[in-house]
Amino acid sequence: MAADIRVFTCLSDNFGYLIHDPATGATASVDAPEAGPIIRQLEAAGWTLTDILITHHHHDHVGAVAELKQKYGCRVVAPHDKTTAIADVDLRVGHGDVIKVGELLARVLETPGHTLDHVSYVFDADKAVFAADTLFSVGCGRVFEGTYPMMWDSLLKLRALPDDFRLYCGHEYTASNVKFALTVDGDNEALKARAAEVTRLRAANESTIPSLLGDEKQTNVFLRADDPAVAIKLRMKGATAEQVFGELRERKNKS
Ligand code: ZN
Ligand code: FE
Repeated sequence: MAADIRVFTCLSDNFGYLIHDPATGATASVDAPEAGPIIRQLEAAGWTLTDILITHHHHDHVGAVAELKQKYGCRVVAPHDKTTAIADVDLRVGHGDVIKVGELLARVLETPGHTLDHVSYVFDADKAVFAADTLFSVGCGRVFEGTYPMMWDSLLKLRALPDDFRLYCGHEYTASNVKFALTVDGDNEALKARAAEVTRLRAANESTIPSLLGDEKQTNVFLRADDPAVAIKLRMKGATAEQVFGELRERKNKS
């Protein structure tokens, strides 16, 4: 049976996500940014939390784990500790592991760079990927703990997913990402169309997520660091994908 996926806002710009398995009643929260909005969504739907799938150790992703675990007695799934320990974890996962949320299957991709422990969760049957702070719509996360080549390699893992998969990312950063992307990729028709769509959605106070991975492959310049045309736009003809990616990320940091 198809998963029922709910998208809502936590904190100022984090996304909250609930994935519900109608067959068993199991419900997972991807990360735990803030207890209040997650509990309200669960109660409105009449669901009880069975699992928390943690993507990385940053506080805006794990801050509500203790409170939710206390309230629901749910299982907490998290990546292996690489830099900072995540508390209250029941199951540690790494690349290729498959976990069950009821009868739903989620595959773990290690996607380090933003942090060394960062993982993404792929629900293949539902064509959904939860990439948190690795891949944003029209952007990508800052590289805090890893290296540019490491982050680029993580983006390649996500880019390898099929075009009809939906991207559920960690933050509503799309408008700011579009603004930056237009500075390097302003003649990209798909990007211009996405820019208009994002302006319309944000004006209506609607979420820009999920987006289709196929659209990200066209509009997200960070996913095209190996495209010679992007290197030329940056006056880096002949540079490697890692070098182009690093230049894009540094320009975005300064933007
Ligand atoms: Zn983060
Ligand atoms: Fe975050």
